[in-house]
Parts: sequence; structure tokens; C-alpha cells
Amino acid sequence: MDSSDEEGEEYLFKIVIIGDSAVGKSNLLSRYARNEFNPHSKATIGVEFQTQSLEIDGKEVKAQIWDTAGQERFRAVTSAYYRGAFGALLVYDISRRTTFESIPRWLDELKTHSDTTVARMLVGNKCDLENIRSVSVEEGKSLAESEGLFFMETSALDSTNVITAFEMVIREIYNNVS
Ligand code: GDP
Ligand code: MG
Repeated sequence: MDSSDEEGEEYLFKIVIIGDSAVGKSNLLSRYARNEFNPHSKATIGVEFQTQSLEIDGKEVKAQIWDTAGQERFRAVTSAYYRGAFGALLVYDISRRTTFESIPRWLDELKTHSDTTVARMLVGNKCDLENIRSVSVEEGKSLAESEGLFFMETSALDSTNVITAFEMVIREIYNNVS
């Protein structure tokens, strides 16, 4: 018997990952949930979300993290994808400026579809590609500040800040609801 059930102290939070195609959304999730990286990843097939547990204040917190099945390619992420989300990672690729320029559109879409307070983090992924960087850290920070988002640069390839980014969002949601 799980004592946390008895006490009603169990949390399940939906988190969505959004951003342009090929910024590394699926690899961020596979790095976080399974510690895997796929250098030749194709459009996600099948798995809609992964569930990860962590303990906060002695309570079990489960994050159900959703990945697009490649719909972002056709600007066809549905409202069902956003429904019930308490957290969001807005991802761009630091080596492709256009993916950064798309962030305001993703923010608008998130606002349109969300019905509650959403813990949001701006994620500049592929920070291992420093030699071909086209968005500075300062630009990322400044956009995050002006929109009230957390900010972090990550690399799904070398694991930099991946756990930290997801866990910051999960902890923020926990703080919002508890
Ligand atoms: P998605 O379309 O946003 O889900 O992006 P994917 O996760 O499928 O990644 C797109 C491509 O970028 C793949 O070739 C990945 O191997 C590569 N990729 C993803 N994350 C990183 C990263 O942190 N660094 C580098 N160098 N490549 C990455
Ligand atoms: Mg994907």
C-alpha cells in the first residue's frame, strides 16, 4: 500500500515541450527520461508522453511530459496537446536564429490554449554548438526577462542542464499549486 495515496499527497503535472522542428525537443525528453540521445532522430512516432517521478518535500511528484509527434512542422499542434498543462518548455536552437525568432509565436499559442498559470522556461538547446552559435546568451536572457520566463541553455547531446531545466519547471509548478 502506498501511504502517499492515503494522505492524498500525490501530484501529477502535465508539461508540454514546444518549439520549431529539429530544435531538439524529442532528444531533451529522451535525455531526461531515459538518458538517451539519438543523433539521427526522425519525427516522433508513437509515444505521446513520458512520465518521470521525483521527490519534493518528501512527496512523490510525477511529471507527465508531452512531446509533439512532429505536428509543429505543419504548425498543427492541437489544443488537446496544451490542455491541462501546468508547465511548458519553449525550445529554440542556439545555432539557428529563426528558431529563436519563432518563440513569440509559440508563447502566443501557449497563452491562447492555456487555462491556468503555466510555469514556463525558455530553453536555448544545443549549447554544445558554441562554434556556430547565432543567438547570444544575453539575447535569450533578455527575452526571458521581458516575458517572465525562466531561462536556461541546455545540450541534449552532452547533457548540460537537461535535468536542471526540467526539475526547475516541476518545482515551480509544485510551488504554484501547493
Ligand atoms: P525535435 O524535432 O525538436 O524533436 O528535434 P530532435 O530531438 O528530433 O533533434 C533534431 C536534431 O538535432 C537531431 O539530429 C538531433 O540529434 C539533434 N540534436 C538534438 N539536441 C541536440 C543538442 O543538444 N546538440 C546537438 N549538437 N544536436 C542536437
Ligand atoms: Mg520531435
